[in-house]
Amino acid sequence: MSSDKHCCVPGCKESRGMRQVLHRFPNPESDRERFNTWLYAIGSGIMGLENDHIFKYRRVCRTHFEDKYLCRNNKISIIAVPTLNMPASLSLKRLTSVERKPLQQILELPSSSSSSSRQTNCARSVCVPASEGNRARPDVSLTPREGGKRGDVLRSNDLCVAVRFDPYLGITEEQSQLIQKKIMEEYDATVFLDDPNVRTPAFRGKTSLSDGVIKMWCEDEFALDWLRRTIKKIDSPLPGTKLVVCRQKETPQRIKGTVYIPDFTDGDVDRLRIRLHKTNADTYNINSWCLYSAQRTPGSDGVRLLLGIPIQEAEALKQKERRLRYKLGSVYVMFADDIETEDNSCGMATINAPNDEPQPAISWSMYGSGDVSRPPAPGIHPGGR
Ligand SMILES: [Zn+2]
Repeated sequence: MSSDKHCCVPGCKESRGMRQVLHRFPNPESDRERFNTWLYAIGSGIMGLENDHIFKYRRVCRTHFEDKYLCRNNKISIIAVPTLNMPASLSLKRLTSVERKPLQQILELPSSSSSSSRQTNCARSVCVPASEGNRARPDVSLTPREGGKRGDVLRSNDLCVAVRFDPYLGITEEQSQLIQKKIMEEYDATVFLDDPNVRTPAFRGKTSLSDGVIKMWCEDEFALDWLRRTIKKIDSPLPGTKLVVCRQKETPQRIKGTVYIPDFTDGDVDRLRIRLHKTNADTYNINSWCLYSAQRTPGSDGVRLLLGIPIQEAEALKQKERRLRYKLGSVYVMFADDIETEDNSCGMATINAPNDEPQPAISWSMYGSGDVSRPPAPGIHPGGR
């Protein structure tokens, strides 16, 4: 049987002799990051193969994709990554490490894509899974197959918690590593204590940074209590803040929106955030928004941002004609739910962007940011244009 007729996930028997739909890898030329995400998720034998060979000859069957990634006509969404029935612990660990590249680094990737297929690229901008996509979630092996959406189940679980800054600023990858290191030191101090009566806390799944908070799943109330006490002892790596533990369900719900910035000349995402934050400070708290990705526009200075916007702020935006002040004018936020409300809606054609610019294919990343506790100021918006 030739290798492109069966699934390359180790141990997967689904496609053998059956009519299981097989999916090609993302193109390593134009979508390298997602290609790598697949590669690391699957691991094992294919790691040693040339990218091109994998793209041409290796396939992944449908059973590894969550429903939210499935599209019409047996296609999968262009942001799909295999997460189901994978070689367990390996996949989640590596997925996380791939997704967490600093945004700056992503932006500097050469845009090798000459394909400016409008349909593909627009779909890329709006066809995004619900925020569960990057959420810390337990190892597949530990998770019973709940009937409902797993993300919802996790959100409703009081033992699924988030370590965050107070005030609520986004934790960066570096800060997250520092914090996790300190938690581990405390953990080891407990584990290697000579006193046999000291109980060790237990956790489930994979601790990871997502939406600017560190998501963890405590095994029981004891672990939760231990974590709360431990976090109190740890100094926040961000001056002026302290670390707190909250339930994941208390972390902000976000909806996705895209905004096109026509003159992203300095290529510095943080300066862009600061600019947006300060210019709109009376109306929005841009620091509370997450930046999921930024796509450069070839042949221009533009960049399209995919943002996770806290619900209250998104509502406020909609009341303000979706307008954000920017430099000497304004830019407009388009919401995915303007077009389609279903999380798993896929393959949608176009966004009616105010500017009809072409879009490049550039990888995704996460960029966490903070304060969502503050309700949007109802205040005056003195017109940005
Ligand atoms: Zn398979």
